[in-house]
Amino acid sequence: MIMDGPGRIGPYEIHAIETGSFALDGGAMFGIVPKPVWEKTNPADALNRIEMRLRCLLLIDRAAKRVLLVDNGIGTKWAEKFMQMYRIDHSQWALDRELARVGLTPDDVTDVIATHLHFDHMGGTTRRVNGELVPTFPKARVWVQEQNWNLAYHPNEKDRASYLQENFDLYRGNPKLELLQTEYGRSDEIAPGIRVRVSNGHTPGLQLVEVADSGSALIYCADAVPTATHVRTPWVMGYDCFPLTMMEEKKKLLGEAEERGAILFFEHCPRMQAATVFHDGKDFSIKQAYQFR
Ligand SMILES: [Zn+2]
Repeated sequence: MIMDGPGRIGPYEIHAIETGSFALDGGAMFGIVPKPVWEKTNPADALNRIEMRLRCLLLIDRAAKRVLLVDNGIGTKWAEKFMQMYRIDHSQWALDRELARVGLTPDDVTDVIATHLHFDHMGGTTRRVNGELVPTFPKARVWVQEQNWNLAYHPNEKDRASYLQENFDLYRGNPKLELLQTEYGRSDEIAPGIRVRVSNGHTPGLQLVEVADSGSALIYCADAVPTATHVRTPWVMGYDCFPLTMMEEKKKLLGEAEERGAILFFEHCPRMQAATVFHDGKDFSIKQAYQFR
């Protein structure tokens, strides 16, 4: 049974923005876990790819006229070959249609919070109009951890293919770029009730985003816990730069989420948008799934 998540936390309306779907190699998504185990929850297609969502979090404070979008999907500017390799599909969900559903356009977005600059998270930052690259959200400030920003220009060989400059180079030297230097193990408040913290296991300088008030807390996990299936500790992605770091960070995050009853928001999960977790004695499990509209 999936429950409705809180419609509001603090001054913010909470919306899940489904910007589309794509597909990644199931083996890469689940690292050392054998296929007979992962395919029960995440069936593969003929090319061994599993369904992935491109789910963003939208926080609207209508009184303060602030509209914050956490990540923005994979975007629409890709060549056919790339679209096919990643089975990118915007037929069912698309960023503009989802924003329209809550009465907004990309022009209304005041803040884009980039968890990290991988293409399936920040591909929607720019689009092509008459062949020219333009910002999708012309009025928005873009918040990135400085560590991740610098890394995107000097990536390691392992995740180089995920940092595509056409998604962010438009912001180099741009006054709308807000580079954060959040200390590891601490958090920074970037809007009332909205805090970011750093996780380095997937890629250095990734930031998790938390919105909380006295009653509820919601944590956008990005690629630290990309799907509900990844709540189990050794289920870390082959894509992760530092899998052991990722496991330690994840245990800490999920332990904290259990203690606080915080809802974890899953960016890529095809099965559920969000959930609380508990430790079942062996490892973490899903306690209650939530959906947002
Ligand atoms: Zn990533």
